Amino acid sequence: MRVVIIGSGIAGLSAAIALRKVGIDATVYERAPELREVGAGISLWANALRALDTIGVGESVRAAALKMTRSEMRARNGHKVQMGLDAAALEKRFGLPELVRMIHRADLVAALAAHLPPGTARYGHECVAVENFDTRPHVRFANGHTDEPDAVIGADGIHSVVRTAILGPEEPRYSGYTCWRGICPRPAGVEPGYIGEWWGRGKRLGITTIPGDRVYWFATENAPPNGRAADERAHLRAAFAGWADPAATIFATTPDDRIFRNDIIDRPPVRVWSKGRVGVIGDAAHPTTPNLGQGGCTAIEDSVVLARHLATNADVARALVAFTADRVPRTSAINRESWKFGRLGQKQGRVTCWLRDAAIGLATKVIGPAGFLKHARFDVGALPVVRK
Ligand SMILES: Cc1cc2nc3c(=O)[nH]c(=O)nc-3n(C[C@H](O)[C@H](O)[C@H](O)COP(=O)(O)OP(=O)(O)OC[C@H]3O[C@@H](n4cnc5c(N)ncnc54)[C@H](O)[C@@H]3O)c2cc1C
Repeated sequence: MRVVIIGSGIAGLSAAIALRKVGIDATVYERAPELREVGAGISLWANALRALDTIGVGESVRAAALKMTRSEMRARNGHKVQMGLDAAALEKRFGLPELVRMIHRADLVAALAAHLPPGTARYGHECVAVENFDTRPHVRFANGHTDEPDAVIGADGIHSVVRTAILGPEEPRYSGYTCWRGICPRPAGVEPGYIGEWWGRGKRLGITTIPGDRVYWFATENAPPNGRAADERAHLRAAFAGWADPAATIFATTPDDRIFRNDIIDRPPVRVWSKGRVGVIGDAAHPTTPNLGQGGCTAIEDSVVLARHLATNADVARALVAFTADRVPRTSAINRESWKFGRLGQKQGRVTCWLRDAAIGLATKVIGPAGFLKHARFDVGALPVVRK
């Protein structure tokens, strides 16, 4: 069987590796002229690290990543520690070798791409149409190229062309807040292995250390959609004035052209991810707001489950339906929880925020971090052994 994958992001590359591991030929088509990723970091929870081990790339990713040692959630513009997580204690308690690894996105996709034979990923190929869902899918590209594989998997992100071919056009849902991201040198006082999220009123700031003595940061703010400031750095400095150190330092030390802004969007969960021999995975299937840090992690999980179904069911259309049924409950739950968590984090009223922060403090004392970590403890399982 030969599968065409559209998109060489985290989902597409992981899927190509997993499919090849179970003896299925995979070609990846990517619209960008070369392998590239936005200049930001990503946290990989234990569930993703396990899935990466299953497809055989865990060690390469670990070599380019930093292990989390300590995490904090702070309230009142970062001035009050609300919850502290000691990674070693939690790993021991939950029997996990590691809870989180942090990595630059470019290093993650490079580590994945290095596990594919040269020529597997073909760049400069923008998919513009998918037809013939039930017989032999026909894929067309903007450069005139066409392909007719046994199956097509759309791993082409939240604005997926393949998803639109399956489900029809539908606008993503705007969360009500926008997000800036950047990478800067690790400020004094932030130790390697640290992850922190600071909540204020209608604003949040996140700091994640990554290898190379750097910090990946994000900042959110309630805003109308599609906004742009004439000077994003000046806007951030003003919006986060008075926040605890090192807020001012990270904005000051990130080059202007390395500050990225995106509105936070997702799509409400759906139960159909395929039509005949054409399906979707990753953000094309289950885009989620980033509040639980699980979008990329579940995209990696998808690769294992997809390969398992395609390797064990000769009927491609049925395999894609079974894959969807396997994945919808978990990814839908994450989508909903992440949406709610984001709404909570973006509360703006003075009294509401005071109550929110008090409730989180109490919940942390009474329930502890177990509920928060439940998605990280998920085990996606193994790949079937294929006789060569
Ligand atoms: C602010 C923010 C922070 C996040 N933090 C985390 C985190 O810490 N942990 C985590 O697990 N997740 C996180 N996520 C989510 C994560 O980034 C996504 O879930 C993940 O990137 C999805 O990967 P993907 O491969 O499905 O899609 P994408 O990363 O969107 O990749 C899609 C690929 O398809 C290509 N493509 C698109 N259209 C076409 C076409 N027509 N033809 C050919 N190629 C095409 C694109 O160029 C791209 O290479 C975060 C997201 C945001 C916005």
